[in-house]
Amino acid sequence: MTQYVYRFGGGVDDGGKNGVTGDKTLLGGKGANLDGMAAIGLPVPPGFTITTEMCTRYYADGETYPDSLRDEVANGIAHIEGVTGNGFGSTDNPLLVSVRSGARVSMPGMMDTVLNLGLNDDTVEALARVSGDERFAWDSYRRFIQMYSDVVLGLDHSRFEDALEIIKEDNGYYLDTELGADQWRALVGEYKRLVEEEWGKPFPQDVHEQLWGAISAVFGSWQSERAKVYRRLNAIPGEWGTAVNVQAMVFGNMGDTSATGVAFTRNPADGTRAYYGEYLINAQGEDVVAGIRTPQYLTKAAREEANAKPLSMEEAMPETYGELARVFDLLETHYRDMQDIEFTVERGKLWMLQTRSGKRTAKAALKMAVDMAQEGLITEEEAVARVEASALDQLLHPTLDPDAARDVLTKGLPASPGAASGIIVFDADTAEKRANAGDDVILVRIETSPEDIHGMHAAKGILTARGGMTSHAAVVARGMGRPCVSGAGSISIDNAAKMMRIGNRELPEGTIITIDGASGEVMAGEVPTVQPELAGDFGTLMAWADKVRRLKVRTNAETPADCRTAREFGAEGIGLCRTEHMFFDAARITAVRQMILAEDEAGRRAALAKLLPEQRKDFTQIFEVMAGLPVTIRLLDPPLHEFLPHQEHEFADVAAATGVSVDQLKRRANELHEFNPMLGHRGCRLGVTYPEIYEMQARAIFEAALDVQKASGEAPIPEVMIPLVATAREFDLMKAVVDKTAEAVFAERGERIGYLVGTMIELPRAALMAGDIAKSAEFFSFGTNDLTQTTLGVSRDDAGRFLVQYVDKGIFATDPFVSIDVEGVGQLIEIAAERGRATRPAIKLGICGEHGGDPASIAFCEATDLDYVSASPYRVPIARLAAAQAALKSRKS
Ligand code: PEP
Ligand code: MG
Repeated sequence: MTQYVYRFGGGVDDGGKNGVTGDKTLLGGKGANLDGMAAIGLPVPPGFTITTEMCTRYYADGETYPDSLRDEVANGIAHIEGVTGNGFGSTDNPLLVSVRSGARVSMPGMMDTVLNLGLNDDTVEALARVSGDERFAWDSYRRFIQMYSDVVLGLDHSRFEDALEIIKEDNGYYLDTELGADQWRALVGEYKRLVEEEWGKPFPQDVHEQLWGAISAVFGSWQSERAKVYRRLNAIPGEWGTAVNVQAMVFGNMGDTSATGVAFTRNPADGTRAYYGEYLINAQGEDVVAGIRTPQYLTKAAREEANAKPLSMEEAMPETYGELARVFDLLETHYRDMQDIEFTVERGKLWMLQTRSGKRTAKAALKMAVDMAQEGLITEEEAVARVEASALDQLLHPTLDPDAARDVLTKGLPASPGAASGIIVFDADTAEKRANAGDDVILVRIETSPEDIHGMHAAKGILTARGGMTSHAAVVARGMGRPCVSGAGSISIDNAAKMMRIGNRELPEGTIITIDGASGEVMAGEVPTVQPELAGDFGTLMAWADKVRRLKVRTNAETPADCRTAREFGAEGIGLCRTEHMFFDAARITAVRQMILAEDEAGRRAALAKLLPEQRKDFTQIFEVMAGLPVTIRLLDPPLHEFLPHQEHEFADVAAATGVSVDQLKRRANELHEFNPMLGHRGCRLGVTYPEIYEMQARAIFEAALDVQKASGEAPIPEVMIPLVATAREFDLMKAVVDKTAEAVFAERGERIGYLVGTMIELPRAALMAGDIAKSAEFFSFGTNDLTQTTLGVSRDDAGRFLVQYVDKGIFATDPFVSIDVEGVGQLIEIAAERGRATRPAIKLGICGEHGGDPASIAFCEATDLDYVSASPYRVPIARLAAAQAALKSRKS
């Protein structure tokens, strides 16, 4: 029979007995680490974990439990009773438990928690007696009813909040802490009345009914909307399920020798080796995260640096703090990583409630990985494996220009680094809508909650009026790599008027501001930025990555500036230079249009002759920047109508500039109109019908290459690439144009240069016929944007409308335009690679679709043994690190 319940604490270690200690797959992250901490002798309140397997089975069985689970849970409760000496439902010494979710990977704030479970009208009296603190007992009971009603019964919590506000107002109180036992007791009465009114039944008094309600609620929260959104954004499969952890309650709200806190063993914002965290005296865990009371600093140094008055834990509870610090070090050595910890002090005794590898900014991840390798805690290769490649993005983007003028409106906490400018919006839906419409937005909230997650994702930056460094906004923003300023207390937000005020300045929705998540500053308007510093820890880690990397990393770039950026980021060549963007340049577009409008070849050649020197200049500049490295230039690809005007008001100007009548222009635009341009007259089909276009481009390439060779003494390595090839004959015809042009240029100049001619593999037929095509193609570059759209029959321009649902419904694990559909598109790539190599063993294979910068797709490229990936300039370092990680992984397997 499958075991679904694993006990921990008080010397019992079911995980250890079954060899699953630390098994997050089965026990969830929280359960695995509670079990792990108990196993190494740390003070963990006793409890048990119901496995993720049970969650999966619960859903498979139509949300029911096997009979055996009843016994297992009863056994778990008996274990907690045995260790604590308290009885569940006892009216002498009642046992209270917490019920919390715990998925394989942490999903902060996404799923539900119930605390103080086990309280009812009788046990609350017993708790008052045993604790000698009536106020505490009734406060705990009202918290329980409130949480249970929200999480388990699904009642609207605003009425509960209103009831509390009314009691406070009636008594002239400002803080919850001012309420006494009688007032909490009165509030409990009011809460029970509210439950009965809204739920239609009295609040459950049977503690076992309470427990099963909470267990089902936690399993149920796995399929909540916000959990689904979070999973989609973080590529977490729905079938993983969550575990449920039931654990004896310990209380941080039992007076001034009690406290609760959250801590990191190193600074999660910048990676410095210093304990970092917050605590609250006489409070329960949720109070710290909820941002109702302002937490105090953990360490004296942090308090002094912030110039804060309330004593740090180091000063207020030196002995317990000392013990906590020892636990921090033990945990770091045990888990060999920075830990994010929750603890509670109950009447002077320290209890550990959670540990996990802490979320961190990219900057901190980088620093910690390099530091830990240098401290000898991990190896260089582990350091390389540890930094999430896509998170590097945060480090590579520009920061605010220190010399630029700043109109600082206010300052909040530097919650997540990076700078962002954009228009302000006040709710998540608007953030998403405006971002989809192409605006950069800054989401401004009083504080964020898990319901805001889609808006936070859509935003370039997040600003909150309330909440500390471990508030929801701060934690989530750091995880997502969004700049965030939290707790900017001088901001007042009027959601109804869609307006925020700072001092006497009013900023309506749509106003542009800039936030600096590294300093906490909030500024009016857009502040200019500067490029990041790439030396230091970044350079060290990249050097370690390059040592283990096999795949070469090139870039997709077509301007000298982008090429330069990419080279600084370590690009080893250009994998895709798209030439059409050059045609859109204001100085050339007229000649391009004249070429399109020409009635015959002679007319086209006359227009192309005007373009030749311009195009040669483009390539000369690129070859100069990329000296000594291969440069893949793709000949013209998009359908010609893209270059013609589309708006009525443009026609007259364009007609005048190109010397044709408006009628002629419209007629030609009509002729070129296609129902399905993506499958129309584009790619090498242009070269087949108008070879003179490719001839001009080839001439520009070879003349530029010879010019640069002459001037610098270093020969560029051009790789001429033919797009959208479906058949070997198409490729051969185009290659003949290129070769003939090359020979003509070499003859005119009396000099030669080495070059390659190859093709993109963007069509399923090309992949299947790769063996044939490779007879003359010297390289293949997988154009996975088109290959994905043509394999799936899904338009890359229109897919946005339904792909989200496809991912939600599990039809695709991730967006196939972001991460290669390994099963389908991947198979075609494998076939093409194998057949290409069978014909031409030394054929060069690379990828230049957007997937070339996606870590998961790069892992696939490593497994398929491609020679290189090509990514946009800012993703070059990501690709270098991802390639190294893929190499490490393939070495292991
Ligand atoms: C591709 O199709 O993958 C590609 C790189 O070309 P483009 O995106 O320009 O069509
Ligand atoms: Mg393409």
